[in-house]
Amino acid sequence: MEDNVRETIRRLILDAGACAVGFAEATAVDDADMALYDRWIAAGAHGEMSYLDRYHDVRRDPRLLLDGAQTVISCAFDYRPAVRHPLFADYALGSDYHEVIRQRLTPVAEAIRGRFGGETRICVDTAPIRERYWAARAGVGRIGLNGTLIVDGIGSKVFLAEIIWTGTVTPDVSRLGDSCMRCGACLKACPGKALRGDASLDARRCNSYLTIEYRGELPQDLHLPGRIYGCDICQDVCPHNLTDRATSIAEFSPSEALMRLDAAALSAMTPDSYRTIFRHSAIRRTRLPHLLRNLLHHSHNP
Ligand code: SF4
Ligand code: SF4
Repeated sequence: MEDNVRETIRRLILDAGACAVGFAEATAVDDADMALYDRWIAAGAHGEMSYLDRYHDVRRDPRLLLDGAQTVISCAFDYRPAVRHPLFADYALGSDYHEVIRQRLTPVAEAIRGRFGGETRICVDTAPIRERYWAARAGVGRIGLNGTLIVDGIGSKVFLAEIIWTGTVTPDVSRLGDSCMRCGACLKACPGKALRGDASLDARRCNSYLTIEYRGELPQDLHLPGRIYGCDICQDVCPHNLTDRATSIAEFSPSEALMRLDAAALSAMTPDSYRTIFRHSAIRRTRLPHLLRNLLHHSHNP
């Protein structure tokens, strides 16, 4: 019976566009894993992302996110676009995934409650939950040395989301102990040597963090060899991503206006044109002066 419920829910989520779905019992996160996280924070490797240093109790135990939580349902959505932009990371090309995935999972959560009872809570990068940990624990994929969650046959260009549920099903087999190929290509290719070799990164040396999250002046010696918003290098070199497949989720495809943007067009942008082009994009969370800071740095330190 529990297995039927699990497979029905899995089908509902796959039909909503996910490429992989897994189920884990909602419990406390392993002590060893939390100790790694705590050491990462203590080393300051999270940079100025101070929100990562808050709600440690919730990060340690997702049951604090929903009274009576019994199951974490982890969902991966493939975002690899069919076309790429030289200046923007792949994940940012389409519509803001926070909104797209929440829209897609909301009717699924309603269906779960309606058919199987209980309460649900959807998290799309919006709650202090260890997303990759739960995805690996729920069997969705394995965590690579580049810190990403790698889904078999799909790769690491996936967005993760969770439905926390008060119902129970038989969990999927954990992939927490699975390693990637450990070929080291990501470590070698990283321009800032940000990857620490234990599947974590030092954000202060990571181009993705520096171009998206960091508000101060960019370090003089920082090289931006490619993108001015995000950085796909450690994923692009990963053998798990050597595939021509592209997402089937239409909202993750870039608009023609965005694809036409080049350095000259970006430099000439006004706040109004910026708002219009990036209206539905996660890029709008970065302000125009911030993007222009990156562009200027890119032109001097390619
Ligand atoms: S995103 Fe870029 S800078 Fe950051 S760890 Fe990966 S390769 Fe290095
Ligand atoms: S590039 Fe190699 S070491 Fe890095 S995540 Fe991929 S398989 Fe693992």
